[in-house]
Amino acid sequence: MINVVNPADGSVVGEVPEWSPAEVTAAIDRTCKAFPWWSRKLAKERGDLLRRWFELVKADKQAFAELMVKENGKCLSEALGEIEYGLGFIEWFAEEARRVYGDTIPAHAGNAEILVFKEPAGPTAAITPWNFPFMMITRKIATALAAGCTMIIKPSELTPLTGYKLLEYARRAGIPEGVFEMVTGNPQEIGALFTSDTRIRKISFTGSTAIGKVLASACGNDLKKMTLELGGNAPFIVFDDAGFDDAVAGLVAAKLRNSGQVCISPNRIYVQDAIHDRFVAAVAEKVAMIRVDQGLQQEFVVGPLINQVGLDKVAALVEEAKQSGAEVVLGGKPHAKGGLFYAPTVLAGLNDDMRIAHTEIFGPVFPIYRFHTEDEVVRRANNTEYGLVAYVFTRDLGRAFRLSRNIESGMVILNSGSVGTASVPFGGVKHSGYGREGSYYGIEEYVEVKYVLMGGLDR
Ligand code: NAP
Repeated sequence: MINVVNPADGSVVGEVPEWSPAEVTAAIDRTCKAFPWWSRKLAKERGDLLRRWFELVKADKQAFAELMVKENGKCLSEALGEIEYGLGFIEWFAEEARRVYGDTIPAHAGNAEILVFKEPAGPTAAITPWNFPFMMITRKIATALAAGCTMIIKPSELTPLTGYKLLEYARRAGIPEGVFEMVTGNPQEIGALFTSDTRIRKISFTGSTAIGKVLASACGNDLKKMTLELGGNAPFIVFDDAGFDDAVAGLVAAKLRNSGQVCISPNRIYVQDAIHDRFVAAVAEKVAMIRVDQGLQQEFVVGPLINQVGLDKVAALVEEAKQSGAEVVLGGKPHAKGGLFYAPTVLAGLNDDMRIAHTEIFGPVFPIYRFHTEDEVVRRANNTEYGLVAYVFTRDLGRAFRLSRNIESGMVILNSGSVGTASVPFGGVKHSGYGREGSYYGIEEYVEVKYVLMGGLDR
């Protein structure tokens, strides 16, 4: 069995099975066996089952949220927010199941018709991370099931309890064995079983770029489709004409979400000269007012990091920046509470050569960089192997559109710190991955396009 530990106090909150390779293979078999039946089901019937699952989970969202606080460390209000977000995918794709439209194309000859069918890609697999134990699962499985695919999921062993609870509610809703399977155990072994099984036609992975590349290489063997949602190094750019208070509030909310352990977390904060010092002070003042604590209360608090490796990484990045001359405006060290809590930290006086400028921090750290011109900040923002999201605050409409075009990322968020909802195409470019989740673009990742020529028509 695998113990699941509460990062806030180290207590064991549950355990999940460590599946053997034979058991994982049997679950893959079930996923494959269910595919022909599930893919031929009426789209409305698939949508109705998703809708029933949505209703059952929604009715019990408090229980899901409390479980998530315990296994992940995020606070209750954030857990409830994640559940709303994650439920949005089940609701959206329950409706979208009926809208997987094909096409007709004007024929090249008088006696023909050209049709385009959209067909479910096949049995699929997914591997999800620990930072959003609920939403990461719903946004993959709801899309797959709506498209007519079956799916087997390996959640992170750090936060698998929420996943198994989702599975339990799916069964109650009538989503049967095979259509939705879940396994836990050795990640490398399970990953290899997923990628080497030629019956699995698509894998969706959210996690680190390093593991994403391993899986993508393995999927190359039989040319499986893939969606890869990988790491980020998001620039957050504030021009001196920005709505100042909105920019501060947007930044603080975006950065402290999940204690900074989010792929779209602002990782490099660029502030234009004229407002730089005032901005740094305002961010530090706002952040200083937020409590650091375990999260079983309604108030927003900054929770612990997920594990010691995560804490050590954040602490090392801040230490190195300090030694290279960064100014610590707030925090700058593990929190006095001890354990896995890191003090919310504001750093200024940074430069692009520091390791913190090129590394995904995954902690409550605000590294603030000064910039002078638009061209300069675009060049610096793009100077990263990642390309997931960029935030821009400006009131100049021309500039907003120029940056939307010139920044190399899958998503650009203007004058807001909030990115996600079920109706938008979420995803990145460069080493942040490929493919999109959410919206009608998301379902395209789970279908194959089939061209049909109907000739010999007597017209
Ligand atoms: P990770 O180490 O890559 O783990 C992600 C998942 O892969 C977990 O389920 C993990 O299992 C599994 N895994 C680990 N080694 C594996 C292997 N050799 N083969 C197959 N699966 C393997 O990433 P993480 O540290 O959990 O998550 C943080 C990363 O995810 C960050 O880089 C973050 O930016 C990225 N992320 C991206 C998005 C996005 O949408 N772009 C969203 C959230 C997070 P275990 O946990 O059981 O070891």
